[in-house]
Amino acid sequence: MSYFSTRGGACVAASQAILAGIAEDGGLYVPSMFPQMSEETIASMLDMSYEERAVCVLERFLEDYSEEEVTDCVHQAYHGKFDTEQVAPLHALNSQTYYLELFHGPTLAFKDMALQLLPHLMKVAARKNEEKREISILVATSGDTGKAALEGFRNVEGTSCTVFYPKDGVSEVQKLQMTTTDGANTHVIAVHGNFDDAQTGVKALFGSKRFIEAMNAEGRTLSSANSINFGRLVPQIVYYFSAYADLLRTGRISMGETVNFVVPTGNFGDILAGFYARSMGLPVGKLICASNRNDVLTEFFASGIYSTHRLFYKTMSPSMDILVSSNLERLLYEVADRDGALVTTWMRQLRECGSYSVGDQRREWLSSLFYAGCADDSDTRTEIRAVYSEYGYLMDPHTAVASKVLRDYRLKTGDETVTVIVSTASPYKFAPDVCAVLQGKEAVRHLDAFACSDIIYSLTERPVPPQVTALRDKEIMHFAECEKDPESMAHAVMEALGHKA
Ligand SMILES: *Cc1c(COP(=O)(O)O)cnc(C)c1O
Repeated sequence: MSYFSTRGGACVAASQAILAGIAEDGGLYVPSMFPQMSEETIASMLDMSYEERAVCVLERFLEDYSEEEVTDCVHQAYHGKFDTEQVAPLHALNSQTYYLELFHGPTLAFKDMALQLLPHLMKVAARKNEEKREISILVATSGDTGKAALEGFRNVEGTSCTVFYPKDGVSEVQKLQMTTTDGANTHVIAVHGNFDDAQTGVKALFGSKRFIEAMNAEGRTLSSANSINFGRLVPQIVYYFSAYADLLRTGRISMGETVNFVVPTGNFGDILAGFYARSMGLPVGKLICASNRNDVLTEFFASGIYSTHRLFYKTMSPSMDILVSSNLERLLYEVADRDGALVTTWMRQLRECGSYSVGDQRREWLSSLFYAGCADDSDTRTEIRAVYSEYGYLMDPHTAVASKVLRDYRLKTGDETVTVIVSTASPYKFAPDVCAVLQGKEAVRHLDAFACSDIIYSLTERPVPPQVTALRDKEIMHFAECEKDPESMAHAVMEALGHKA
């Protein structure tokens, strides 16, 4: 199977798409078709381990990787790296509602699901394509991707990883997680701006001939670990199948029964993987797209118009604070019936006028697959409290947004379909906010993330993850900051890489 660009150009192998990150015409790589998973194949997954399920899905997409290579990459990514053998366990809230817990990896957020695997896929890709230069990863993060990428690429030979994060846009734990990263090939830079500034800047660097040439001259080639890289997306398809297989195995559903998924959404990568799983034959009913107060996607699904003429809000679910959802472009490609020229036009309108419209007919098609809703911080707090007091289950703010949107969806539609809430972060990652919700702001005013973690432990049966405890004594290794214009960011990258080279 080959990979096309959403803007119409390119036809490359999987390893080339993963190595490049973004297509030369500025588009995103998409598979030339969706491999179909029969009921038989899905049934065969019931008794497989997570690693085996991953191989089963991945080998269909990574055609120029041998089965042995895929198996080896998957093993290095998931074996012993997660705090449960199931990797992505399903927690039953009641007979209709399940949490798919994707936060059992090293950085306590779902980004680990992909970023533990991507560096290994990339190393193999470099070997296949005789790429001898250092693969320099540039990442823009709204909080969770940064640490997950640093952790994934840390000390992986032949690579370096440079992360930009919005200086005042991440949680205390997120910031500490990143700035305490060791490893000779990791770099962390605070941008004076919000996430969209950081992301726009990184995109500009990928498009800058001058910057690329300067990097090449130093023996480096750029790649991306953001979810625009297909290698980030493909590992995420796995857990939709895995969740379905677990529901089947435990007799919660029967074969062929549709299941809804509700996904707390920012860059549209996670939910897009659900759409891909559906396109491969997984019986998915509605994909419910949950946003926080930055509800650009809710508006898009309701009106067919994507518009960035709106305010940017900082919320308690920072990994979803976003105006431009990059991965939506891959859905647009399907909406446009794989017409790259049409996608190019929409993307140009977005760049030049800040908006585009897909039209009513296409909007209706989207509505048959997706439902979209949003929840602000106040809704989020109420939801965390409600689920904790009824079930004793404590959610992080991102997951709570999804949970609340599901509540609204059920009230509005009466749809009783079994639904999986994709749980993207551990409550420990946002301990002060979560504690404040349960105990009141006053009670935690003077407490740091560690003291709040102790409180969470006393309120739940989940022990404090050792990764959080360890942060207490770790030394800060990264102090760099820069302005949000691409020029400053380019300078900061060269500086960081140069110093440690
Ligand atoms: C990244 C992230 C999201 C959003 O995922 P997308 O793939 O960007 O839509 C949601 N929750 C958490 C905790 C995240 O880290």
